[in-house]
Amino acid sequence: MGLDEIRGRIAAAEAKAGRAPGDVVLIAVSKVQPPPRIEAALAAGQRIFGENYVQEAAGKWPAWREGFAGVELHMIGPLQTNKLKAALDLFDAIHTLDRPSLAQKLARQVQARGACPQLFAQVNTGAEPQKAGILPADADAFIAECRALDLPLTGLMCIPPEDQDPVPHFRALREIAGANGLSGLSMGMSGDFESAIAEGATHIRVGSAIFGARDYG
Ligand SMILES: *Cc1c(COP(=O)(O)O)cnc(C)c1O
Repeated sequence: MGLDEIRGRIAAAEAKAGRAPGDVVLIAVSKVQPPPRIEAALAAGQRIFGENYVQEAAGKWPAWREGFAGVELHMIGPLQTNKLKAALDLFDAIHTLDRPSLAQKLARQVQARGACPQLFAQVNTGAEPQKAGILPADADAFIAECRALDLPLTGLMCIPPEDQDPVPHFRALREIAGANGLSGLSMGMSGDFESAIAEGATHIRVGSAIFGARDYG
């Protein structure tokens, strides 16, 4: 398992960027990974995990939460509104608040429960038609709408286009966040988390570099 190596690379990237050790939150993305790999990460002290599918997470995490204190689960996949209640039962953070209709339904649930997960608004920095997220031009208005709905945003999240240099996308996300007084930046994956840290990422989402390749077979 590559957890030690990734921790070392994060520490080096923090130091190089002049950031305090431990500044960056590592979300270990465990979707589709075989349970023994996840248990090894838990045994090595990792407590913050990312999952993409509500049903998959609901099937495996309740037992591990019983066995390991302090587990924190982050939803990083597209969230269907009919899965919202189940997601709120499971997750401590949602990185994929990506549309007004979801924000409206979420606000009603948060009111009813009196509790709100950490929230990141997903911005489609590459304006890719197949990708979820608010378009950069609509981001200010969406952030304002979340605030009007009493949804406290921790920050913004992006998934840069696969075939492009991610750095301009990280910068664009940071600029939108800064202009809106948001400090959280969920950006950087296995292939680019060091540049994301250099650009100010506060939360990185790393899967295959820790656990190995995902087998969707
Ligand atoms: C799967 C996934 C990741 C992790 O990807 P790796 O390349 O395995 O690090 C990060 N973020 C999101 C949104 C994902 O869906």
